[in-house]
Amino acid sequence: MKQYKLLTPGPLTTTEAVKREMLFDRCTWDDDYKQITQKIRTDLLKLAHAENDDYTVVLMQGSGTFTVESVMTSAFSKEDKALIITNGAYGERMVKIANYIGIKHTHYAVAYNEYPKEAEIRNLLSLDNEITHIVMVHCETTTGILNPIEMIANVAKETNKTLIIDAMSSFGGMEIDIPALGIDFLISSANKCIQGVPGFGFVIAKREKIISCKGNARSLSLDLYDQWVVMDKDGKWRYTSPTHVVAAFGKSLDELDTEGGIPAREQRYRNNNQLLRKRMKAIGFDTYISEDKQSPIITSFIYPNDQFSFQAFYDYMKEHGFVIYPGKLTDEDTFRMGNIGEIYEEDINRLCDIIENYLGVKA
Ligand SMILES: *Cc1c(COP(=O)(O)O)cnc(C)c1O
Repeated sequence: MKQYKLLTPGPLTTTEAVKREMLFDRCTWDDDYKQITQKIRTDLLKLAHAENDDYTVVLMQGSGTFTVESVMTSAFSKEDKALIITNGAYGERMVKIANYIGIKHTHYAVAYNEYPKEAEIRNLLSLDNEITHIVMVHCETTTGILNPIEMIANVAKETNKTLIIDAMSSFGGMEIDIPALGIDFLISSANKCIQGVPGFGFVIAKREKIISCKGNARSLSLDLYDQWVVMDKDGKWRYTSPTHVVAAFGKSLDELDTEGGIPAREQRYRNNNQLLRKRMKAIGFDTYISEDKQSPIITSFIYPNDQFSFQAFYDYMKEHGFVIYPGKLTDEDTFRMGNIGEIYEEDINRLCDIIENYLGVKA
């Protein structure tokens, strides 16, 4: 098979060293292995600027959605009610989860290229005092829009609501001060900005909030509280853990540290993203999200003309060493390119040179 770099926002391109870490078969209940899990939990807490007294970390098997579902099934009692704020498919997936589980909820949806409005949120909360939780996605990977978590965090604090943030595609690639924002549950996964391989997700949560999850779960394997109780003792996973993935993730955290932590990685991603958008604009591509709302993670580009064939473009790009991502919008023809993972300025320049050749333009 021909090698290529992934411009998809997870799984993404990882380093040789991260991949090499998986060449040993570790024992899931052995002390050395449990220590890898414990170190990962400690490292994640540090990246979140959180202290062990107030916050804790739980790792959960499966893709990111499994972890989102584990938070949703565990953080809500029968009486609790969610305000789910959406402007993309990942927010909508949380509404779907709420419907599956039977969580009471109000859905506040805005257009995919717009921010939710603070006044609207305050109004919804004041009209319905049954609402106990606010749920939102940080970076909506659907489009690349970066939602205003500071605003939501302030509202949640002032109105005393539990705040659940899906920061799947932003945590590790952007500074998020979880205690300062007062986030109660933040969800992310191994194969996004920390640059591990897929296989588990993690939750950084307020200790008191995890404790109050006891008995809520409608699912055995996704019970976040039970998973935490077992893991918090000595780093043992409740059921078989993805040992290779966990070892690789430990390595990816070391590499993040070597790179200079989140600030350095954020800088690299921002630089990648700005360069990508600048060169694509010169080639003739407009973006779906306006610059002020654009994340440094992934960008949605609008088809340049009616003759543009995504499949032909995709095949050409793959042939030349890059895998891109289809769009996820119904009202506009777009495709997406992520700029996270082991991707550097030279990759973006090479990518854009290939696109210029493909379209026969000299920007
Ligand atoms: C990747 C992602 C998820 C999880 O998707 P999986 O395919 O289950 O890993 C959830 N929310 C957001 C915002 C994401 O980017």
